[in-house]
Amino acid sequence: MNNRPLILVVEDDAAVRNLITTTLRTHDYRFLTASDGETAVMLASSRRPDVVLLDLGLPDTEGVEVIRRIRSWSNLPILVISARSEDDDKIEALDAGADDYLTKPFSVEEMLARLRVTERRLALMQNQEAESAVFRNGDLSIDYAARRAFLGENELRLTPIEYKLLCLLAGNIGKVLTHTFITQKIWGAGGESELASLRVFMATLRRKLEAADPTVRFIQTHIGIGYRMLRVEQEGV
Ligand code: CA
Repeated sequence: MNNRPLILVVEDDAAVRNLITTTLRTHDYRFLTASDGETAVMLASSRRPDVVLLDLGLPDTEGVEVIRRIRSWSNLPILVISARSEDDDKIEALDAGADDYLTKPFSVEEMLARLRVTERRLALMQNQEAESAVFRNGDLSIDYAARRAFLGENELRLTPIEYKLLCLLAGNIGKVLTHTFITQKIWGAGGESELASLRVFMATLRRKLEAADPTVRFIQTHIGIGYRMLRVEQEGV
């Protein structure tokens, strides 16, 4: 039980907070709670949780400010919780360094699924060699030194921009990347024309990735927000 992840739950609504902590308790997670941003930042630094579940609407601080402050010294996974009407806040939170988001009202199953994804990402971050030369996800592999990508034995014929996009998604596997984050990284700008280009390149990249087996999804679209590379479950694992 002691090696179970420690979750910091930041939520000012007592009913939601209780629902979350009850669920965590039944699933053997350890947790801490905070109902405002100041306490959240303090606990994040003093207790070093493994994951932060952060409600964006807090009484004292903007949730985004909490993310910025934690990100100034830590990469610990932050899962944002926000209301359906707050799409702009979600995007701002992801740009500030949040890893993923849950939209209220969410089911406890949904929350547990996101936590499992985050845990896998965490394990991966900890086990990954600092400078791994080859990226692998299911049948997909990227040989960074050779600047080549493969699906199984077959080399993917990618344009330079598709290749850059693929590397960006792979380097942030499991994390939702916003349109602005991606277009800034690829084109150094985040305007309407870059967004339009992104849609086109993402469509062609996806077609190439899914050409062999359309049932395997590598890239998930978050409408109005961005994209994420999913970890493809390997058979027998
Ligand atoms: Ca709230």
